[in-house]
Amino acid sequence: MANLVLKAGKERSLQRRHPWVYATAVAKLQGNAQRGDTVKVLGAKGEFLAWAAYSPDSQLRARVWTFDSSAVVDRNFFEKRLRAAIAARAHLRPRTDAIRLVFGEADGLPGLVVDQYGPLLVVQLLSAGADFWRATLVDLLAQMTGCASIYERSDAAVRNREGLPERTGWLHGPAPDFNIKPDHTTALVVQEDGVRYHIDFMTGHKTGFYIDQRDNRRLVKELCARLLDLNPGKNLRVLNCFSYTGGFSLAAAQAAQAKQAEVDVVSVDSSAEALALARVNARANGLFSERFQTIQANVFEFLNEEFKRLGQQPGYDLIILDPPKFAPSAHHLDKAARAYKDLNMRGLRLLKQGGYLLTFSCSGAMSVDLFQKVVAGAVIDSQIDVQLAQRLAAGSDHPMTMTHPEGEYLKGLLLYRT
Ligand code: SAH
Repeated sequence: MANLVLKAGKERSLQRRHPWVYATAVAKLQGNAQRGDTVKVLGAKGEFLAWAAYSPDSQLRARVWTFDSSAVVDRNFFEKRLRAAIAARAHLRPRTDAIRLVFGEADGLPGLVVDQYGPLLVVQLLSAGADFWRATLVDLLAQMTGCASIYERSDAAVRNREGLPERTGWLHGPAPDFNIKPDHTTALVVQEDGVRYHIDFMTGHKTGFYIDQRDNRRLVKELCARLLDLNPGKNLRVLNCFSYTGGFSLAAAQAAQAKQAEVDVVSVDSSAEALALARVNARANGLFSERFQTIQANVFEFLNEEFKRLGQQPGYDLIILDPPKFAPSAHHLDKAARAYKDLNMRGLRLLKQGGYLLTFSCSGAMSVDLFQKVVAGAVIDSQIDVQLAQRLAAGSDHPMTMTHPEGEYLKGLLLYRT
């Protein structure tokens, strides 16, 4: 067993239970350790700090498994952690069978992400430690969830920083014919709050679906219903920018259907595949019509064109802006802040009075405070009066550790135009 000894003064963050050891904090490695091995992390005076997974190629030289000196990192350890993580999601089962079962650091399992889509698990092993324990983790997951089919989507760039190649493929069990078909359907269909979604888990974004937006999809449904109640007989228009496979669009269309109202739902994305799947999803729910429009375009350009087309007449009652991550790291923050501001200005000026804008950032490097400042800047420069109606975040299966603020990546604001 090797010891990872820190430089004097560098033990503070671990004492505060932050789970990462930066390479710059390390004085020396005593003994031999290979990638993924469990090492004992010691302070400069030799005091115990943590058991952690060693990652020789990464700037994050080690990630903590436990701060308990008497703990043993073995199969039993992972079984307990997985059991706790899975149990903490049980309350979601009545609503959905698309659930993030394990969310890395927040579940005490750095680098491990496990998403359940009904009978299938999609796993991401994103750290040296998680990769080292892959066989044990997969075996335990199959046993504990009863899901025999487990697919790996470790095709995230963070793997390279850990010295690991990107990997995808079946990890466990019979590979059922869940592949996406040329007509964009798939046998893998999940349901969430009464809406069915076809999941392209092999080539879709992340593990195939934005599970983290579950509660915000429900909010869109509620807002749509509220707007319909307030404006009976009026032709409501919803604009879902960066729609991907139509999550928010379906929520809005479902609310309209429940009230037997006609609502225009416009989904804009640059990906033809994503929009094709959005249409498949709309059909699967009986929500497809000529009012359910999908437009392949660059959102920035689309918003400008719409503004020109509509003139001074604002066009939409409900607008969703859920762009990809503009700030992959803190170095990109300035540029990202400008892009978020620009996007929100373009969105705001299309919002009708009495309408709602949901605006998001999934950049972990951008704090909640900074995002709010950036959006406030867009509001001020647009000279549009809005209220901040609600702060938005990821669902409860994407928890955060208080000691690891980097884990809070998805943040959003609900604005109401007065
Ligand atoms: N709102 C979606 C997730 C959005 S992911 C959901 O809840 O499911 C970001 C999406 O933005 C991707 O589908 C990607 O294809 C699209 N995208 C990225 N840059 C874009 C751009 N400039 N214009 C339009 N779409 C873009």
